Amino acid sequence: MNNSDFGELTRIGAKPLDHYRIDMLCPHCGYFSPAEGAKLSEKYYGITCHRCKESVMIHTGDEKQIVDYYPKRKVTVDNALVPEEIAKDFLEAHKCFSVAAWQACSVMARRCIHLVAEIFSAEGKDLYQQIEDLKNKQLITPVLAEAAQRVRALGKHGAHPYDGKGNAFNDLEMEDARLGLEFCEFIFDQLFIQPAKIAASKQKIR
Ligand SMILES: [Zn+2]
Repeated sequence: MNNSDFGELTRIGAKPLDHYRIDMLCPHCGYFSPAEGAKLSEKYYGITCHRCKESVMIHTGDEKQIVDYYPKRKVTVDNALVPEEIAKDFLEAHKCFSVAAWQACSVMARRCIHLVAEIFSAEGKDLYQQIEDLKNKQLITPVLAEAAQRVRALGKHGAHPYDGKGNAFNDLEMEDARLGLEFCEFIFDQLFIQPAKIAASKQKIR
């Protein structure tokens, strides 16, 4: 099983039926659910969620790993809690994800972290140092700093075909882009959403 929204694609029927099952985070109902369906062609499978009965098209690579799927989950950002310019960039990152633009998605996710550093007045000559600065000032936890550094690294990878020494970067894959989005959501939750909820709760009951 790869560390994604999907489990392993397993064949459950004999030819010519070619039936398969898989566990997935369903983009329709949002639950992790078993799903099954048919192989449609060499690299495409049409599977139906057991829970909501909606279908998902899965695109696989040479080793049956999931390289893309359709449709993607619809994303919203709580604009009242997450600063508007960050929410805007995050939604653009998701738009890139929905059309399998993995590099562009990672670059937009990195932009979100850049804005977070701006909002917290981070100091340093580049984003790496700015994230370390926020950690050293204890404005963000070490785990949050690690997540932010991963988004930074993935975004750098997405933006540049070569590293500083001229070595070609490998193309990013769906899982890289997905992780960048997941780390961003984790960071927004910790820095904006939970503090706002705590403040609201204190307002209500002291
Ligand atoms: Zn479902």
